[in-house]
Amino acid sequence: MARAREVIVVGGGHAGVEAAAAAARMGARVSLVTFSMANIGEMSCNPSIGGLGKGHIVREIDALDGIMARAADAAGTQFRVLNSSKGAAVQGPRVQADRTLYKGAVREILEGLENLEIIEDEVVGFDGLKFKLASGSTIEARAAVITTGTFLNGLMHVGEDRSSGGRIGEKSSAGITESLKRAGFSMLRLKTGTPPRLDGSTINYENLEAQESDAEPEAMSFLTGPIGQKTLATRITHTNARTHEIILKNMARAPMYNGQIQSVGPRYCPSIEDKVVRFSHHPSHHVFLEPEGYATNVVYPNGISTSLPRNVQDEFVRSIAGLENARIVRYGYAIEYDAIDARELGPALGSRRAPGIFFAGQINGTSGYEEAAGQGILAGINAALFARGREPIVLDRARAFIGVMADDITTLGVDEPYRMFTSRSEYRLSVRADNADQRLTPLGIELGAVGEERARAFALKMEKLAKRDMSDLAVRRQLEIEKKYEGYLGREARQIEEYRRDQGLKLPRDIDWAKIGGLTLEARAKLEKARPDTVASAARIPGITPAALSALMKFIKK
Ligand code: FAD
Repeated sequence: MARAREVIVVGGGHAGVEAAAAAARMGARVSLVTFSMANIGEMSCNPSIGGLGKGHIVREIDALDGIMARAADAAGTQFRVLNSSKGAAVQGPRVQADRTLYKGAVREILEGLENLEIIEDEVVGFDGLKFKLASGSTIEARAAVITTGTFLNGLMHVGEDRSSGGRIGEKSSAGITESLKRAGFSMLRLKTGTPPRLDGSTINYENLEAQESDAEPEAMSFLTGPIGQKTLATRITHTNARTHEIILKNMARAPMYNGQIQSVGPRYCPSIEDKVVRFSHHPSHHVFLEPEGYATNVVYPNGISTSLPRNVQDEFVRSIAGLENARIVRYGYAIEYDAIDARELGPALGSRRAPGIFFAGQINGTSGYEEAAGQGILAGINAALFARGREPIVLDRARAFIGVMADDITTLGVDEPYRMFTSRSEYRLSVRADNADQRLTPLGIELGAVGEERARAFALKMEKLAKRDMSDLAVRRQLEIEKKYEGYLGREARQIEEYRRDQGLKLPRDIDWAKIGGLTLEARAKLEKARPDTVASAARIPGITPAALSALMKFIKK
């Protein structure tokens, strides 16, 4: 017999934990089903959270009382605000984190939630809202969030070697793709990669530049007090002509260049093979040697993601200054996996085809922990609302970077793994990392997704802002930003008003595009594919002309 729950979340990665926790905070009875309890909150790649564009998302997750920022603060080994010499709109808080402490902090927060049960199992398929587990049991839910990351039919590559798996040392997951295809979903195949990991005791740091934590470390979470822990330095080294020569000589053995991998990888997070070919005019590339934690010697060499054969990885790594005797403790690899075409989803991340099923994270064609977690919290909130028969919430582009991402992927789809940049937001002077709480915490309180502690802290901050209480550093900084950009903020506020007017012009879900007079065949095909929910979203589809938009407006008014 099927067990009944309000919300089932499939996958305990960054998307899954935020989804499960948000739904549970809202009072829904939630089952989080994941392969392995021990791997909940695992950072599959770089040991860091935040950065440019991504830091905004982490603050937004925090504003909605999510997990990521608090866990990053608890596990942080280095705190830096990137672009701190530039304008407030493009600054990004980033925390380097101890991998084990991060997972522990995530687990601790999850275990403190009353309505959440964690089930160590595999979902092997679903039919409607009935989910079948490998152990033989079935869970029937009122709503679901699917967050399988890189695991769906995952295929890993190291040189000519191929093996099935969702991440190194973990098996892949199969049946869900078949259930999705049976339900009519259109699917994609994407890829990503990771660098080798090094034994830090075999690195010669002597002549390498050190990058330290900021002198006054800024916490990721609005709730964290002063950062008191010991911080760790990153060292910087560079590839050189010899490194590039070794890589080029072995290009025929690189899975991405010899035809073994055909799926598309993230352009903005290229492998070292890609960098050497695409940026052949650059004589060297940075390599950041990031410690993976306090109690480990393992070092993550950020910048040399690769799937070249093992002996080639050994050879090119040892050509780099400081790494002449470095020992690789785990080789780099690339992974191909199944994702859905996110145009299958509406802006609340719910499936149009299978009502009640929400999707978040890498399965939607994005890349990155923060992007996954941002979608996770939105999908989790909406799954809880759906389970109670309530209307979904949509975060618009002027409210949150999470809204920008949801609109981008569900309207435009992706043809390579999507990652966030500050430049993706048209309203980035108003949608900043420092004011994420003002933009989102009141909504979180109204939805029941924000707990008492955060609600109290937020009320206190608003009081200080109203009194212009300059003794609080965060309040003082914010007042300074608002004063400095006063004129621009006013102009942006008018643009936001205009955007929201178009955003209010909703397109009916069952719209018959063929009935709209004055649309060219090309415009109609594009609209049919993207199925925008509003005129504002339609306006963002490349090739949708002002003439097509005016035909749409005429149709709605009729
Ligand atoms: P994941 O973190 O992958 O979590 C998926 C979860 O689902 C896992 O817990 C898994 O156990 C569970 N699961 C899967 N299928 C099932 C099932 N059927 N039943 C139960 N549980 C299931 N991001 C970057 O930003 N930069 C990078 O350079 C980068 N490189 C990467 C390299 C590699 C090799 C990998 C694997 C990932 C890389 N990423 C990178 C991506 C980053 O890890 C992901 O974007 C992020 O972890 C996605 O989060 P997620 O929650 O969607 O999925």
